[in-house]
Amino acid sequence: MTTAEDLVKAALDVAHRAYAPYSKFFVGACIKTTSGQLFIGCNVENASYGATLCAEASAIATMVSHGEQHIAEIAIAGLHCNQTIIPCGICLQRIREFSKPSTTLLHLANPQGKFVTYTLEQLQPYSFGPEFLETAK
Ligand SMILES: [Zn+2]
Repeated sequence: MTTAEDLVKAALDVAHRAYAPYSKFFVGACIKTTSGQLFIGCNVENASYGATLCAEASAIATMVSHGEQHIAEIAIAGLHCNQTIIPCGICLQRIREFSKPSTTLLHLANPQGKFVTYTLEQLQPYSFGPEFLETAK
């Protein structure tokens, strides 16, 4: 059984492999899908800043490329921040695409591995998701 602590540890581990030469803000993420599989990702910066990929996006891309699309939990950790990390707004939207807002858990960690847990709905109480496009068909 994979615990939240395991996910946070994996997020901290992969944060060490982040490519962050510009911001020095090294971030890792570890997704646990509803089927129990784990997928990690780290931020990948670019000299053209707009091309930078967040850790959450990296983990989501890996998850989807492995045929999984349902996030049960995601741990996110930053190495050089002085507080518990918070996902950016774009990543909350990215997570939303593959989540159930009322039950998907986000474990947000500080560099020491101490974390707080929120549902996606707590962090993003009003959000746009795939169901909004159902009536467009
Ligand atoms: Zn982000």
